[in-house]
Amino acid sequence: MVYETRSHVIPFNRTCREVAALLVAREDRALGLPDRLALRMHMLICDTCPRFERQILSMRNSMQQWRNYRAADDSQQDGVLPK
Ligand SMILES: [Zn+2]
Repeated sequence: MVYETRSHVIPFNRTCREVAALLVAREDRALGLPDRLALRMHMLICDTCPRFERQILSMRNSMQQWRNYRAADDSQQDGVLPK
């Protein structure tokens, strides 16, 4: 008799390393449906990866603020500098 391995029992099973790579990739491109499902499944059973996701999200937010700050700075300079 052959026992099924865990990866057969749980569909879309991913390791933390793979999930971390997906989280980083998601910042640059939209993930396919299987990847998005795998991500969601993994987040339910893992303690570490949701923490890593929060770090990435807060990093993205501060990057956004930095970009907005730069944009505001540039437009201000446009008004001040003589044409
Ligand atoms: Zn994990």
